[in-house]
Amino acid sequence: METKNSTKSSHHKILLLITFSLIFVSIISFTFYQKFEDKIPVLMYHSVQETKVSEITISKKYFVKQLKYLKANGFKTLTLDELYDHLNTGKKIPRKSVVLTFDDGYKDNYTIVYPLLKQYGFKATVFVQTDKTDKDDYFLTSSQIKELSENGVEIGSHTVTHRDLSTLSNEDQEKELSDSKIVLEKILGKPVNYIAYPYGSCNDESKKIAKNLGYKGAIGILDQYTSEDTDVFEISRRAVIEDMDNFLGKVEKNNYYMGKYKFRKLRRIILSKF
Ligand SMILES: [Zn+2]
Repeated sequence: METKNSTKSSHHKILLLITFSLIFVSIISFTFYQKFEDKIPVLMYHSVQETKVSEITISKKYFVKQLKYLKANGFKTLTLDELYDHLNTGKKIPRKSVVLTFDDGYKDNYTIVYPLLKQYGFKATVFVQTDKTDKDDYFLTSSQIKELSENGVEIGSHTVTHRDLSTLSNEDQEKELSDSKIVLEKILGKPVNYIAYPYGSCNDESKKIAKNLGYKGAIGILDQYTSEDTDVFEISRRAVIEDMDNFLGKVEKNNYYMGKYKFRKLRRIILSKF
């Protein structure tokens, strides 16, 4: 009888332990879920070409694969202005949001990226290095910049000469940030509100100057998610490369999706063998 009772009591203890463990795990998961939900990846691209020709290029095929993934999985793209609105007002960032940004202002942003954005109904921001505009065939012309802007692509500054701002005098930094803003605003006929620091490099002065010149925010490269704790004068970005797992690791906020993609890939490989 005593043995029966002690078995019963140890069963109770195990049951209690399991219940508390489940409650504990649920609280932790919910906390992390909430934490992840308030974050958004701002992705950084440069050039998209038919084939990958350099470290800063991704092939059109791969870019399409990424856009397809975002579309199929219910992602919504935000402009930087929309993101700023969320960061500034504390309004919740919509679930499954992503910001697509393109640096330097390469011509393929007009010839390849722009038609694809229209096809998939996605928004994006292009940061232009203004001393290349109308002077270098590899880069966007002013009429292309204007057309992009009139059709939902946000245009930002990427300075005039693409020098590392943290190495420049305050005067030179101001010139880079101000002259590029003036040139772009003349082309667009509207304010240019954001700047992407070349190489993501800046110092406190760069932030102060950007703010004084009327920029609403600035973009760095720190490979982190952006949330309401983020400094709007150094918004983080995540560089995109030609690797789907790497891409998913950056857009999805937990590693489960990464695992799921790997599993699907593995299953495809196995099935293709039969
Ligand atoms: Zn750049």
